[in-house]
Amino acid sequence: MNVRSGRAQQPRPAPKVVQIQSSKACGSSKPVLTFVGAAGTVTGSCCWAQTPAGCFLVDCGLFQGGHEGDQLPRMVFRPREIKAVVVTHAHLDHSGMLPWLCKSGFYGPIFATPGTRDLCQIMLADAAHIQAEDAQYARKKGLEAAEPLYTPDDIPETMSRFVAIDYRWPFKAAPDIQAEFFDAGHILGAASVRLTGDDKQVVFSGDLGMGGRPIIRDPDPPPEAKTVIMEATYGDRLHQPYEESVEELRQAILRVAKRGGVVMIPVFAVGRSQQMIYELGQMFRAGKLPKMQVYLDSPLAIASVEVFRRHEEYFDDEAQALIKQGIDPLNFDGLHFCQTVEDSKRLNNIPGPAIIMAGAGMCTGGRIRHHFFNRLPNEKDAAIFVGYQAARTLGRILVDGVKVVKLQGEMIPVHAEIINIEGFSAHADQTALIEWLKKIKGVERLFLNHAEPKAAEALTEKVDEAGLPKPHVLSQQETIDM
Ligand SMILES: [Zn+2]
Repeated sequence: MNVRSGRAQQPRPAPKVVQIQSSKACGSSKPVLTFVGAAGTVTGSCCWAQTPAGCFLVDCGLFQGGHEGDQLPRMVFRPREIKAVVVTHAHLDHSGMLPWLCKSGFYGPIFATPGTRDLCQIMLADAAHIQAEDAQYARKKGLEAAEPLYTPDDIPETMSRFVAIDYRWPFKAAPDIQAEFFDAGHILGAASVRLTGDDKQVVFSGDLGMGGRPIIRDPDPPPEAKTVIMEATYGDRLHQPYEESVEELRQAILRVAKRGGVVMIPVFAVGRSQQMIYELGQMFRAGKLPKMQVYLDSPLAIASVEVFRRHEEYFDDEAQALIKQGIDPLNFDGLHFCQTVEDSKRLNNIPGPAIIMAGAGMCTGGRIRHHFFNRLPNEKDAAIFVGYQAARTLGRILVDGVKVVKLQGEMIPVHAEIINIEGFSAHADQTALIEWLKKIKGVERLFLNHAEPKAAEALTEKVDEAGLPKPHVLSQQETIDM
């Protein structure tokens, strides 16, 4: 019996397998790593590890910002020959190709921390829905519809492969390779992973966090490793101090509230939404902001809050201390969750002062666009950007100061105040990357990936100055000895 539903469990139908025309067979007389994604760029993380005993992947991410057609040519391995996947974290550029892998013949385990598994559950389902909607939209417009890489029906099978492994709990990624997760301090459940075999020790940093951020813990680097493969997303940047950013946010909200306006904050569903709830809650509880209604208008962000709640064991000391005092760090008086489209539409008529947080984080889709449609023409209202805005996204265009935007087929004048606050980033900056690296003993070889060339170059210089091994910047499809 299935205890939760009270119904007898139906046998799951065998998954449909798609034939992949692919090239290279698995197998190598010595352990090697091939970078099939996130080399020379910051998306599509995927590393193909081949050892004499077999092949596995570290991450299997979606190439974001590109077309569906960009996804497959780089996947040069045969999915059927991959025996396991080790996933560093739930962001789609690290996990978003897992359902494709499973429907393409991969039958092995997917190792991830419990937090990553639970976040993947909601994020992969969301990714499948978005692909289906995009294809439907394209067909409606008479455009050539890209075939979705996978559909919502592929998600249960993918999730059934997950094996949850906690931090610092060694497991076998292959018969000859031991693996271990370390907290990367990036998003809930995010990990660096260390692979150990014979005399080899390779650390994949995964995406690294900044430290000193609310809710999640600071990065916990592996104590030692001979080889390190480190992300360098912000290798050329120093973030504004976090406390300054929080104060800037408070001042901006105060200013808009005073004139009776509504603040719109575009948020990423995982991480930034929870961080904003935490910081706003702290401000309201301390009386640093006047009482006002706050709406989280994003089903995915709401689902992420529930995943965070399920994993309080990962919370940092400050969040744990709040819980001990009986305070929910992810709630406060006046916070409302808007689940349905009707809930969202009702916000069109609310008076200020109020705050609406909605996705998508870069305003490329999601409910934030209809709030912008309604409120960008209002002088009293404001949009506060608290996250990275990639080139050519609506978010970036607004931050750059455009005066008219096209929304729902109409030209909308931008009279609302546009505020951009940097410093909330979930990615380590240049100093934090070097500090993380310095804590790992015995590093002989250093490789940089997950970076635009400019960032990798700047970080190379700094690593050199710090007296650490000279890094090699990885390129796409490059193979190195493990
Ligand atoms: Zn990430």
